[in-house]
Amino acid sequence: MPSGKTKFYPSWMEKMDNRGKTLGSWCKRDTGNEFAGYCTVCMKSISCSNSGANQLISHADGQKHKETIMKYMHDNSQKCLLEVLQSQAALRVVWINYLYASTSITQGTGTKG
Ligand SMILES: [Zn+2]
Repeated sequence: MPSGKTKFYPSWMEKMDNRGKTLGSWCKRDTGNEFAGYCTVCMKSISCSNSGANQLISHADGQKHKETIMKYMHDNSQKCLLEVLQSQAALRVVWINYLYASTSITQGTGTKG
């Protein structure tokens, strides 16, 4: 067994993990530990002292890391969905206005946005 530990190398940030993302897209230098990187997704330190970049790459394959990414994506898609629902609600209001005020439409329905 080699006695030395593997230090974190910034050049690893250009390597790809198994999802085809560069390590730099989720990982950075751990300022408190030169033998570790810091996962900005999980907000935790990942040791690379044993097998270097491979340890960071295998972290990206971990269940926790994937779940956290999924959660981010879920939050974002919910935000998009909310916008869609809001625009649908706006259309519905316009439609109801049209139905109940069809005899005299005073509101302009062609607002640009
Ligand atoms: Zn992570």
